[in-house]
Amino acid sequence: MSFLLLSQTSLDANHDSSLQMPNSTRCNRIGKKMGPSIGQATEDVNKAEKGQVLVAENNLCRQYEEKVRPCIDLIDSLRALGVEQDLALPAIAVIGDQSSGKSSLLEALSGVALPRGSGIVTRCPLVLKLKKLRPEEEWRGKVSYLDIEEDISDASKVEEEIRKAQNYIAGDGLGIQDELISLEVSCPEVPDLTLIDLPGITRVPVGNQPADIGRQIKRLIRKYIQKEETINLVVVPSNVDIATTEALSMANEVDPEGDRTIGILTKPDLVDKGTEDKVVDVVQNLVCHLKKGYMIVKCRGQQDIQENLCLTEALQREKAFFEDHPQFRVLLEARKATVPCLAERLSEELIAHICKSLPLLENKIKDLHQKTTDELQKFGMDIPEDDSEKMFFLIEKINAFNLDINAVVDGEESVGTEGSRLFAKLRRQFQLWSSMIEKHFSKGFDGLQKEIWKFENQHRGRELPGFVNYRTFEKIIKKELQALEEPAVDMLHQTTDMVRAAFTDVSEKNFTEFFNLYKTTKNKIEDIRSDQEEAAEKAIRTHFQMEQIVYCQD
Ligand code: GDP
Ligand code: MG
Repeated sequence: MSFLLLSQTSLDANHDSSLQMPNSTRCNRIGKKMGPSIGQATEDVNKAEKGQVLVAENNLCRQYEEKVRPCIDLIDSLRALGVEQDLALPAIAVIGDQSSGKSSLLEALSGVALPRGSGIVTRCPLVLKLKKLRPEEEWRGKVSYLDIEEDISDASKVEEEIRKAQNYIAGDGLGIQDELISLEVSCPEVPDLTLIDLPGITRVPVGNQPADIGRQIKRLIRKYIQKEETINLVVVPSNVDIATTEALSMANEVDPEGDRTIGILTKPDLVDKGTEDKVVDVVQNLVCHLKKGYMIVKCRGQQDIQENLCLTEALQREKAFFEDHPQFRVLLEARKATVPCLAERLSEELIAHICKSLPLLENKIKDLHQKTTDELQKFGMDIPEDDSEKMFFLIEKINAFNLDINAVVDGEESVGTEGSRLFAKLRRQFQLWSSMIEKHFSKGFDGLQKEIWKFENQHRGRELPGFVNYRTFEKIIKKELQALEEPAVDMLHQTTDMVRAAFTDVSEKNFTEFFNLYKTTKNKIEDIRSDQEEAAEKAIRTHFQMEQIVYCQD
C-alpha cells in the first residue's frame, strides 16, 4: 500500500525521536489496523480508557489480517518483483501549499520523523517505505538514491541522511529535482505503507530559485497525482479560505469526478474566533463539495515540537481538543475528526481502491505475461540436463533447421505479410537480367550497322546485296556474346549472395541462442556456397565458350 505525500516538508533541527514508538506488545486490536504509531497511540488511549482489549476490535483486526493482509502482501510481492516499473500500484498522495501541515500529518500517520523546516525543504520526491517487522526484530533503515545505498541503524539519523541525499541530488541551492530518494524503514511499530513526500506548492521564487519554480513543482506533483491508482489527499489549513486553494483545483483537474480526492483540514486550533461554523460547514461538505468529503485533524504545532511533545500524547490532546470544542465536537461524533479516524478512513479507502484496481492489475499482468511468454517462445525450450536427452535435443534442433532450409529450397518458407520468399527475390533479379540483355543488344545495334556498312564498302565480294559474308556475321555475333560473359558472372555472384543471406537467416532464426551451432552452420553455408558458385561459374564460362562456336542447323 502506498501513501503518497506531496509536501513542502518543514525541517526541524531538533527532530523528535519520541516519534519512534517504543516496542510494546502487539495486540489484536483496531490500532494495529491503523498502523503502529496510530495503532500504538490508539492502543495507549484505549488501554487508559478501557484497560483491556475489546472483543469487537479483535474481530476487526482478525478480518484485517485475513482479508487485507493478503492484499498488502500481494502488492508487496509484486513490488519486490519490480512490477511497479510496468504497473502503477495503489497509492495515496497528499498535496497542499507550503506549511499547510502535510509533513505533520505524514508524521502523525507514520511515526517517522522526516526533514522539516521553513521554506522549501523537500526538493526531490521522497519515497518512504514503511515495513512492518515481527515484534522481536529491530529497527532498521536504508536510504537509496541514484546508485547510492546507505544503511541506517539509528532512527535519529534518518533526517540527516535524507538531507545529505537531497543536497547530493539537488545541490545546495533551492532548486528542485525529479530524482527519487527512497527511504525504507522497517520496524515492528510501522504499518505496511509507502508514502511519497514531494515539494509543496509555491508561487514566488525565493533566493536562487529559478523563475519558473512554481511551474516546476506543479509539474512534479501532477506526475504523481494524475495516476488513476492514486488517492489524493488535499491538505488545507482551517484558517485559510478553502475556495482559493490551488491544491484543490489541481486535484480537481486530474480527478474531475472526485472519485479519488479527499479534503483534509489542519490546524483547527488556529481558527479565527467566530469562523468556527464556517470550518464545520466545510468539513460537512457544504462549501466546496467533494464526492468523498472532508476530514479534520490537529497535529503538533511548532510549540508542541519544541516542548518535545510525544505523538501519543499529541493524539490524546487532539482527541481532547475535539471533545471539548463546542463547535467541532459534532465532527468528532460524525467520525470526521482526529488522526486515528483519518487513518481508519484511509485504510478503508485503500482496501476499496485495491479491490477496484486488482482486476485492472490482473489484466495488465496477464497482458505482460502473454507478451513475455511469446518472447520467451522465440528462444525455444530449455536445454535438458541429461546427456542422451541433450543428444535428442540437438537432433531436434538440427532437424528443425533442415526443415526450414528445405522450405526455402522448395520455395515454401513463411515470410510474414511484408517479406518475400527467396524465389520471388531471385525472380526479380532474373527479370533485371533479361532487361539487361535487351539493353545490351539495342546498344550494340549501332555498332552492328557500322560493321555492316564497313563490310558493304570494303570487303563485299560476290555476295548479293543484303547478304553478309558468314565470317563477318560470325565475328559480330561472337563479339556481342563475349561482352555478356562478365555481367553474367556478376549476376551469379548477386544471386548466390541472396541465397546465402536467406540460408543464414534460417540458421540465425534456429540457433540465435546457440552460438557454436550458428557459427558452424554459417561456415557450412559459406563453404557450400563457394563450391557451388565455383561450379556454376565454370558452367557459365563453358556455355559462353560453346556459344562462340556459331553454328545453327536452321
Ligand atoms: P508542510 O509544509 O505542509 O509540510 O507543513 P508542516 O507539517 O511542516 O507544518 C507547518 C507548521 O505548521 C509546523 O510548524 C507545524 O508544527 C504546524 N502545524 C501543523 N499542523 C498543525 C496543527 O494542527 N496545529 C497547529 N497549531 N500547528 C500545526
Ligand atoms: Mg512539509
